[in-house]
Amino acid sequence: MKKFDEFGLSGPILQSLADAGHENPTPIQSGAIPASLGGADILGIAQTGSGKTAAFALPILHNLTHEKTGRRRGDPCRALVLTPTRELAAQVLDRFRVYGKRLNLRTVLVIGGASIGKQKTAVRNGVDIVVATPGRLADLMKQDAIDLSAVEILVLDEVDQMLDLGFIHSIRAITGALPKERQSVFFSATMPRPIAKLAAALLRDPVRVEIEAEKRPDIDQSVMFMEQPGKHHALIDIVKREDFARGLVFTRTKRGADRVTKALNSNGMKAFAIHGNRSQSQRERALDAFRKGKAPILVATDIAARGIDIKGVTHVVNYDLPNVPETYVHRIGRTARAGAAGVAVSFCTGEERAYLRAIERLTGRRITAVGKDGGKDDAGRDEDARSGAAEPRNQRRRHRGRKSAAPGGKKPAGPRKYAKASGEASQAGEQKGENRGKRRTAGVRRRRNRGAAGRELSGHAG
Ligand code: AMP
Repeated sequence: MKKFDEFGLSGPILQSLADAGHENPTPIQSGAIPASLGGADILGIAQTGSGKTAAFALPILHNLTHEKTGRRRGDPCRALVLTPTRELAAQVLDRFRVYGKRLNLRTVLVIGGASIGKQKTAVRNGVDIVVATPGRLADLMKQDAIDLSAVEILVLDEVDQMLDLGFIHSIRAITGALPKERQSVFFSATMPRPIAKLAAALLRDPVRVEIEAEKRPDIDQSVMFMEQPGKHHALIDIVKREDFARGLVFTRTKRGADRVTKALNSNGMKAFAIHGNRSQSQRERALDAFRKGKAPILVATDIAARGIDIKGVTHVVNYDLPNVPETYVHRIGRTARAGAAGVAVSFCTGEERAYLRAIERLTGRRITAVGKDGGKDDAGRDEDARSGAAEPRNQRRRHRGRKSAAPGGKKPAGPRKYAKASGEASQAGEQKGENRGKRRTAGVRRRRNRGAAGRELSGHAG
């Protein structure tokens, strides 16, 4: 494995990496940094926790400082990073500031829930790097308050989450306003067909870098079969039994998150809930308490937990199994970050077994079934097989496209079916040459030429 100083990153960046305690690049960084420094487009398949932020931030910081220095008032944005949530945008901006603290680059956060006036002023004053959520950035564009005509590098981070949140129109409006001649970097934890299509439309001859998030041998995954009313007790037992230093509990609904939090609190366990009905400041308070270890349990819905980077999560509990199997991969990826080990326990009712089967199909592994005491126990699963509940092949197709089940006990619809990631590289690859713009800025052309060698080396980060 290469070291950071073998990538050719500038001294000030290497110093800041050392200050941040990053000794060696993660696999996604080893795969993406050389190619990205060379100006290649990147198709990264990685989730939060893989070190993907530095994988795109370091080359941006390096390339922007090596082409032009001395910012002036009114200089337009040169690098644009789009993220699905405000929290993630703030974290990404923070990483740019940490790694770029010795560089003279201006960064601006453009997110909803904060003063648009201040954002306009900051952009007007000249900016190198904008980190934004698509909705607020589209607002600034409508008000003619931001000039995107000089963007050299575009990053779309957590694209699957952005599409889930309905940002596709904003993304199209934004990318339509950018110069055709640019470097584009695309990160997604999963690569279902709509995302592969978007990647094919936006990327040119991309270098594909991927870590096999789904397999995650570093996470001890298990499933407990039970019925809905037994879940409260099962959770309380687990918290008592396990060394639950920092645990994330996922529920399907906001009300469910509140109920679980109440049950934990009334059993003397300190827990907070974060979900869409909580105000921004309530969510920040809960996250802060969790991060600082004041409350060891955070109960969250998927949307509220998106992109949040919390170090040292020891346990993830899927109190309710998600109906989209990729969400399972996102959830369990909250633990075992940056090399640490983690535990993921899922509660599965009879109605949720179709979800479990979809997850096992996606991840290509059978999750170990355990009993109440944590010991191996396949009884629930055997019962499933004996009763013939396993879905016959020809019935699976009928589920596709059906809406997900309403929370609260109706028979769940079948899992959403996505194309497996294999084969998508060729879709992106087919893009080769299709959009080649005629005019290239000197900087982008130079970097692309440098990138040709890196492209061969880093097709797969292992
Ligand atoms: P990310 O996947 O970008 O959200 O990063 C997850 C966490 O890993 C963040 O807290 C980073 O600070 C940390 N991290 C990123 N790269 C490295 C590295 N090379 N060595 C150690 N920690 C890292």
